[in-house]
Amino acid sequence: MARYTDSVCRICRREGLKLFLKGTRCYTKKCSFERRPSPPGQHGVRRRKVGEYGLQLREKQKVRKSYGVLERQFRNYFVDADARPGVTGENLLRSLELRLDNVVYRLGFASSRPQARQLVAHGHFAVNGVPSNIPSYQLKPGDRIEVRESHRSRELFKTVKETIRNHQAPDWLTLDPAALAGSIVRPPRRDQMPLDFNEQLVVEYYSR
Ligand code: SF4
Repeated sequence: MARYTDSVCRICRREGLKLFLKGTRCYTKKCSFERRPSPPGQHGVRRRKVGEYGLQLREKQKVRKSYGVLERQFRNYFVDADARPGVTGENLLRSLELRLDNVVYRLGFASSRPQARQLVAHGHFAVNGVPSNIPSYQLKPGDRIEVRESHRSRELFKTVKETIRNHQAPDWLTLDPAALAGSIVRPPRRDQMPLDFNEQLVVEYYSR
């Protein structure tokens, strides 16, 4: 499957926003965006006039790359969100938030979404007792996500168990640090999802 292999810090610089794709490094002085917030490339520092289409495109890219979703899959999320009742932009963000890799990240089992995606793909998690290695797996209220029993004794999860003790999961999730598990209480409301995304621009991009 195609995947992004360039430096992920370039994505933050391109989108003009810290997207926290590198875990703990993002909170240190080593963060590339902190050191050089201009867009990447030889002409990155030049001021460019951005039109309406440019704004919509950049917003779409920002959301898509934050969740690590490829173009075609992201469009499918939009088509599905548009077909469901409710506000399309919110439906879209909600589907992205309910991806298994995102929930693993939100529960604090991983320090970034890319790391969460890798942990899921390596088969460390189970949903409702059934092993799942599909990062895009759509969760729903009532679902229980846990580190598989046979993987809990691994050094990685011993460390995670310590770090998630103080982790504050969002209100729409519950976290049981001792059991290395969490559940979906309800779908997230708009104010419980990232506020620095303007999903309306994404809807406008696909509605052209
Ligand atoms: Fe973005 Fe993190 Fe890289 Fe900073 S360190 S530019 S927040 S991915």
